[in-house]
Amino acid sequence: MGIKCTICGKEEDSLLRTNHKELGTIKLCVDCWSKENYKKKLLNLEDFCGCCR
Ligand SMILES: [Zn+2]
Repeated sequence: MGIKCTICGKEEDSLLRTNHKELGTIKLCVDCWSKENYKKKLLNLEDFCGCCR
């Protein structure tokens, strides 16, 4: 049973776990990830770690 991309519903083996400004934590295929990232809808998960700088 594959996991589906939250936006397009495509089943992928490797979905990217993503923090979306409107949808929360979702899984996206690479295509949707680039589109949402281009629209600046994604929050970088690494940004939550402020202790390492
Ligand atoms: Zn997708």
